[in-house]
Amino acid sequence: MENQVILKLHCLFCFSKDFVLPDKNYSPQSGHQILCAHCGRSNDYDSLMRVAKKNAKERAEEQVTQELNRFTKELSRLFK
Ligand SMILES: [Zn+2]
Repeated sequence: MENQVILKLHCLFCFSKDFVLPDKNYSPQSGHQILCAHCGRSNDYDSLMRVAKKNAKERAEEQVTQELNRFTKELSRLFK
């Protein structure tokens, strides 16, 4: 599960999705620094998670809005 999470993380500096992981079973934990493979800067895991969660929440809200719009359109078609 943790490995799936890291796939969705983006470097805070260059937005690269490539991180240098010590080994492939590595799972980042709170307080860890994760090195970006692209720009070489270290990202604070807690900040990364905060951004990832915020993005996920925004995407979810966007989907709900789209669904609602589609539903409203279909409803108004029915009552024409
Ligand atoms: Zn980077």
